[in-house]
Amino acid sequence: ARQFFVGGNFKMNGNIKTIKDIVSNINNAKLDPSVEVVIAPPSLYLLLAREHLREGLEVAAQNVFDKGNGAFTGEISVPQLKESNITWSILGHSERRVILQEDDQFVASKTKAAIDGGISVILCCGESLEQREAGKTIDVVTTQLKAVAEKVSDWSKIVIAYEPIWAIGTGKVATTEQAQEVHAAIREWLKKEVSSEAAEKTRILYGGSVTEKNSGELSKQPDIDGFLVGGASLKPAFVDIINCKG
Ligand code: 13P
Repeated sequence: ARQFFVGGNFKMNGNIKTIKDIVSNINNAKLDPSVEVVIAPPSLYLLLAREHLREGLEVAAQNVFDKGNGAFTGEISVPQLKESNITWSILGHSERRVILQEDDQFVASKTKAAIDGGISVILCCGESLEQREAGKTIDVVTTQLKAVAEKVSDWSKIVIAYEPIWAIGTGKVATTEQAQEVHAAIREWLKKEVSSEAAEKTRILYGGSVTEKNSGELSKQPDIDGFLVGGASLKPAFVDIINCKG
């Protein structure tokens, strides 16, 4: 069985005080011990979060560069994360793809650099509303993943997050059927294009307006192995999402 995974993507939110508060709320909560928990604060607060977060819970960067240390103003390297005990990075989030204009090749190159350097990756994919309405969802998502599969063969340190753009921050969560359908298609794609082992073992998370109210139903779907939570990860109810299987 795949270990259930709940990630908190704080995006560009929080300050020293609120991040300490969020971390201490998580630390003091009774968490389902079978769930893998990773939080991703803005880069400025990675060390603060790592210093305060209890052992056994992990911290993720929201991005990492594909080159080693050097003249790359504004970027953070894989070795820098590694030294700081930041063991994960989110990559390919739609906000970076759309607003920062990251393309599939760049996301793939960063995924390769992270995996090669020992940083696990939450690899995001997902379609726009226009793409969904044109019937292109599966095509868009598998094209995004294919770019990574061309560069990376070992998917054991990758968790896929399916995040339909129209569901992110909109309060418009995908229905359980919509999410399950895409998750199953991603797993089918993994089986065909990567390996049966990758299909069987890779966690596929759902992201987009996940709350403590809808997480329970979504978590029952056979191909939903967890969540990447945005807005609700900043609130005490994040704990209820972590514990939604219980
Ligand atoms: P929301 O949960 O705020 O919709 O954000 C989802 C997301 O983008 C997580 O990466």
